[in-house]
Amino acid sequence: MNQNKEIPYKIFLEENEMPKQWYNVRADMKTKPAPLLNPSTLKPMTAEELSVVFCDELVAQELNNDNAYLDIPQEILDFYKMYRPSPLVRAYCLEKKLDTPAKIYYKFEGNNTSGSHKLNSAIAQAYYAKKQGLKGVTTETGAGQWGTALSMACAYLELDCKVYMVKCSYEQKPFRREVMRTYGASVTPSPSDTTKIGRKILADHPNTTGSLGCAISEAVEVAVGSEGYRYVLGSVLNQVLLHQSIIGLEAKAALDKYDIKPDLIIGCAGGGSNLGGLISPFMGEKLRGEKDYRFIAVEPASCPSLTRGKFVYDFCDTGMVTPLAKMYTLGSNFIPSPNHSGGLRYHGMSSVLSQLYHDGYMEAISVEQTSVFEAAEMFAKVEGILPAPESSHAIRAAIDEALKCKETGEEKTILFGLTGTGYFDMVAYEKYNNGEMSDYIPTDEDLAVGFAGIPKFEGNEI
Ligand SMILES: *Cc1c(COP(=O)(O)O)cnc(C)c1O
Repeated sequence: MNQNKEIPYKIFLEENEMPKQWYNVRADMKTKPAPLLNPSTLKPMTAEELSVVFCDELVAQELNNDNAYLDIPQEILDFYKMYRPSPLVRAYCLEKKLDTPAKIYYKFEGNNTSGSHKLNSAIAQAYYAKKQGLKGVTTETGAGQWGTALSMACAYLELDCKVYMVKCSYEQKPFRREVMRTYGASVTPSPSDTTKIGRKILADHPNTTGSLGCAISEAVEVAVGSEGYRYVLGSVLNQVLLHQSIIGLEAKAALDKYDIKPDLIIGCAGGGSNLGGLISPFMGEKLRGEKDYRFIAVEPASCPSLTRGKFVYDFCDTGMVTPLAKMYTLGSNFIPSPNHSGGLRYHGMSSVLSQLYHDGYMEAISVEQTSVFEAAEMFAKVEGILPAPESSHAIRAAIDEALKCKETGEEKTILFGLTGTGYFDMVAYEKYNNGEMSDYIPTDEDLAVGFAGIPKFEGNEI
């Protein structure tokens, strides 16, 4: 206990200890993530093809499997200084509450107005768009954190920002929409009649409440059809994991100052960007055979891409306009059941994390949403932070691991990613508080519907 007390509640980094480069875990992977494929030729997407949709520098980052470290431009470092380093907190109060010998740390990414880690990549993507002389960017947002983060970054750099927001979130989270508009973004509920694909989806499914995959199709269509615009994406892509490595690099630098080595690193997994960013530098050590860690991805039981999905090439969007990515997927037309409140609703998973999971470097579990909100409530009461539902998946798993340590008496060190705050998720909390939250685990038959939409070609059997 005394030894513990030498470690402060929060470990900060001095400005000169802050990372100046991102870490690209692909450089240390023996089996690289499979390349994006052009859906019409089934050949790897070339830089030229990708540059129709994405900014040139981001295309280069997307395709870079070789350089382990990439310099963070000074302008981005300056922006990071406004809200980074994010706190690395020793969860003494949670440990006490659980009466566990485990030592729990969390890296808190909610201490900026967007309320999540998404700002780390938003500023990078907006910066490269600006540097290329573009007028603006388009994107989709589900729960709204990515759209908010991108609006902030675009406002800072004076870029136009068009956000397609999944319709049910647009209606459920009017305040998030207003934050985006305050930062100058235009926000359109998706599906909308402003795009060809949106009109088609509306015609086929007039009552749809939208999905991320559908909003992506709309945003891509607008970017490709508007001069001076490119599309940006807040998760899943290799470039996003690269930018998010700032989370893991900071966490590692802070822990190293006190010679702390985590045994277990836990993160929630939607498209995989926060988890990939948090674990990257630690995973690098594991891949190079220097140190060993256990990594656990936590996903909702209602959207179980890693634990129940297929590792195949699939579209990244519902409209099937994006390249094909090899990933664990539930099928691009998969939509979680309507009672699902906890975010993390994307049908696929980062190709980097998918490959690492496939090769046995990472574990994955799924948890049910009522147990996720129980964990969120406990955490809010003892640690003071009202967590985002997404983040609470990681809290659930960290608590469960700490309780296992209580049984076995093991003093494991657990690090988890607390990706954001939940102030805009009060409709979900309200359901939980009213006892109206239920769990739904899709049946194999439910999942078969999504799998049926996976493209079929030689070598892509499900
Ligand atoms: C977007 C988001 C996630 C999930 O996205 P990943 O790309 O899997 O990290 C998790 N937590 C919060 C707070 C988010 O906004």
